Amino acid sequence: MDQNHTNLEDLEGQWAFKILLLGNLAVGKTSLIFRFVEDSFRTNFQPTLGVNFLLKKVFFGESNQIQIQLQIWDISGYIVHQPRSMSRAFYTGASGVLLVFDLTRPETLHDLSTWKEHTESFEKDNPMVMLGNKNDLEWDSSLTTKIIEDQMDKLGAIDLKLTSAKTGEGVVDSFHTLAMYCLKRSLAKAKS
Ligand code: GDP
Ligand code: MG
Repeated sequence: MDQNHTNLEDLEGQWAFKILLLGNLAVGKTSLIFRFVEDSFRTNFQPTLGVNFLLKKVFFGESNQIQIQLQIWDISGYIVHQPRSMSRAFYTGASGVLLVFDLTRPETLHDLSTWKEHTESFEKDNPMVMLGNKNDLEWDSSLTTKIIEDQMDKLGAIDLKLTSAKTGEGVVDSFHTLAMYCLKRSLAKAKS
């Protein structure tokens, strides 16, 4: 469906979507979730063990007539090395993905291909938004907009946002954008 031609009335109601944050260890997935859900930031680094999720409701429309409950799943960077049976619960049932890389580490952009393959081996055709995180820091000098956009095309990501979990830049916008894509995709599926 053309994303630009959905009537607001079609979207009214209460919705719930499971979304995943994927990306290498220490790109800032857990920090982005904390910034979005609690509007806070911690500097002490704690690798996420296993899997957990947080809930947050987002509202759209002039009178908040569109309500989306997001179930936001945070993954450990290590799960990629686990057997399929272990990661199934994480990936299954997801409606959308935030693919997160670290603007100070180009290899994390490159590795998004692996994360895409993993999620698509469980759920296909979900909207994916790419996040270049740590935009409060100096980008790696080898990283150009062109390289990022080429990777975006290769991955089939529908949008790119520059974020900082530290300052909050782009964080709410990223989650809201993905939530809207999830809703439109799910309506398109229901109609087809
Ligand atoms: P995860 O492994 O992807 O969940 O990454 P974390 O959220 O645990 O973050 C890894 C490290 O990067 C931590 O020390 C965070 O404080 C730091 N970090 C995360 N996001 C940002 C950001 O936007 N800017 C800066 N400067 N540091 C960040
Ligand atoms: Mg984490």
